Amino acid sequence: MPAATAIDVLIAGAGFSGLVMAQRLSEAGLKCVVLERRDHLGGNAYDAPDGNGVLYHCYGPHYFRTNSRAVRDYLSRFTDWTPAEYRVKSHTHGQYWSFPVNLATYEQLIGKPATEAEFATWLEQERAPNPHPANSEEVILANAGPTFYELFFKGYTLKQWDRHPRDLDPSVCARIPVRTTRDDHYLREEFQAIPSEGFTRLFERMVAASPGLEINLNTDFLTARRHYNPRHTIYTGPIDAYFDFSHGHLPYRSLDFQVESFSADQLAAAGRQPISGSPGHWQPALQVNYPNDEAYTRIVEIKHITRQDTPHTNIVREYPLPADDTHEPYYPIPAPDTRLQYEKYRLAAASEPHTSFIGRLATYHYYNMDQVVAIALKEAERLLSPTGPFGAPAGPP
Ligand SMILES: Cc1cc2nc3c(=O)[nH]c(=O)nc-3n(C[C@H](O)[C@H](O)[C@H](O)COP(=O)(O)OP(=O)(O)OC[C@H]3O[C@@H](n4cnc5c(N)ncnc54)[C@H](O)[C@@H]3O)c2cc1C
Repeated sequence: MPAATAIDVLIAGAGFSGLVMAQRLSEAGLKCVVLERRDHLGGNAYDAPDGNGVLYHCYGPHYFRTNSRAVRDYLSRFTDWTPAEYRVKSHTHGQYWSFPVNLATYEQLIGKPATEAEFATWLEQERAPNPHPANSEEVILANAGPTFYELFFKGYTLKQWDRHPRDLDPSVCARIPVRTTRDDHYLREEFQAIPSEGFTRLFERMVAASPGLEINLNTDFLTARRHYNPRHTIYTGPIDAYFDFSHGHLPYRSLDFQVESFSADQLAAAGRQPISGSPGHWQPALQVNYPNDEAYTRIVEIKHITRQDTPHTNIVREYPLPADDTHEPYYPIPAPDTRLQYEKYRLAAASEPHTSFIGRLATYHYYNMDQVVAIALKEAERLLSPTGPFGAPAGPP
């Protein structure tokens, strides 16, 4: 067998976590190799054009947002940004509802105009105040009350997670705001924008700015790692797989993405009207949630934010299901039982000093993109710091 190749850093995974590390460490002069089992860069943030040239997010919509100046400045080296208005509606009981819950939603509920004060008073009577909610059901009952819980949250959560909201951490539903004003923005971060030429182009530019970086696609780290002799390893894949499932399989939710493309003619034939003067859209908002009756949880039409100048469009329906050998692990399940199981893997990882476990899968934690970028930037800084493995000159081989 040929001798393993000596390198500085071996990186498993070419998602945001792996590529930020690779870019930073290559730029610092280290010889880095990335192994990625998929056939493309970018992990779940990968996007690509459909048959009509309309971009879509292949693993579900990725709404970039951040409050971090450092993350924004770093990524801005590789992309320009298109400001984005992330607008969501919920479709149930035969109509589109304003969402997240706001004054317009209340007016739809009562069927007549109302004031902020009236809605606030009604909401105070509905809510079950709870300074320390123990689970997602308690969060929603405390923030939105039982009427909206039943309309928008309970069915959606059951479908998405295959668990009752009572059996999920409060964090799952705490992210969604409830407002008594007419503000229907979905997200709260100060910077909300998407890469102007798409995420994949951003990743390609990161690689171009990584001197000497070697990337091997279609390559599984767990089988190919024996060909390398790295000084340090960065692992961004599922932590249970790294340890050969010695503490059992960590449960994940997966999604089946059904993409449908529409030419301008097909849209016209389907009777889809131009939306506020903008031709070529299939639905009235970027994202429509289907909390109750349909098997899918949401339909996303990403063209609402990419603002591609084309009469064609596409939509993606998301059908939740458990992760298995054929369905990628997307969402770690945030609950007390899964946390206990993950803790065993975390302890095992802590006893591997020459390996960094970072990202969504290796830490079994749902992070947004800006969060994993921040974590990767920090970890690269630690590795390059005077006390890190690359802070001092390399010793003799
Ligand atoms: C449906 C969905 C929607 C999302 N929407 C948003 C959003 O709107 N906004 C937001 O900020 N974030 C969103 N996210 C989260 C975002 O995807 C993550 O924050 C980000 O992708 C995490 O990057 P990562 O590199 O840690 O993981 P990943 O993107 O999962 O990358 C890990 C990579 O490692 C590879 N890999 C795994 N095992 C191996 C192995 N053994 N060998 C080689 N390669 C391996 C995988 O193929 C993958 O490419 C969403 C996630 C999902 C699933």
